[in-house]
Amino acid sequence: RKHSGRAAEHQRIGIMGGTFDPIHNGHLVAASEVAWVYDLDEVIFVPTGRPVFKLKQKVSNEEDRYLMTVIATASNPRFTVSRVDIDRPGVTYTIDTLRDIHDQYPAAELFFITGADAVAEILRWKDADRMWDLAHFVAVTRPGYSQLPDGDRLHHKVDTLEIPALAISSTDVRRRSANGEPVWYLVPDGVVQYINKHGLYR
Ligand code: ATP
Ligand code: MG
Repeated sequence: RKHSGRAAEHQRIGIMGGTFDPIHNGHLVAASEVAWVYDLDEVIFVPTGRPVFKLKQKVSNEEDRYLMTVIATASNPRFTVSRVDIDRPGVTYTIDTLRDIHDQYPAAELFFITGADAVAEILRWKDADRMWDLAHFVAVTRPGYSQLPDGDRLHHKVDTLEIPALAISSTDVRRRSANGEPVWYLVPDGVVQYINKHGLYR
């Protein structure tokens, strides 16, 4: 496509799934670093619809999460945002995300990007066995979470990548916002402004 000039059948595309409530600089560094190391043409951020692991938890309106993701990624020519999970009814499963993106880019090689905490859940994901055919899996380091235990059978399936450590979580950004503490430089400026403008996390 437009940036690399790579032919469609050689496209390398990252998929960064998340609740993004809100998106923060840890997500952006993870995507940027994987894009660099794996020579990706594009990283598609995919805000979840109803996240399967957060069914009991209150999650912000999906349009707010989508728009904050658009704002945070707008300045990077290789970052895009997809609505596939938001627009699909029901609970979000990663296998459905992969199938939808695969249908949109049938010839591309896909790389699913996930943090060390989320990768531990992979085996519990719906149709885990069938995901390996659709994408490579790259697990990035995340402060506070250990990488896969030695001998874990996921080692054969999932690449591990050490990235610059940012001890930022959406949970902490929400908590800080609720307490009136600053979130500048933890999330992009436009996201701070969006949170304030719409009174999120009060
Ligand atoms: P919450 O605290 O609400 O769970 P979060 O910060 O974990 O939010 P998610 O939207 O749940 O953000 O995460 C999306 C993906 O980004 C997951 O794969 C997660 O592991 C990864 N991720 C989140 N924060 C970081 C970080 N600081 N460094 C590396 N990876 C991260
Ligand atoms: Mg999380």
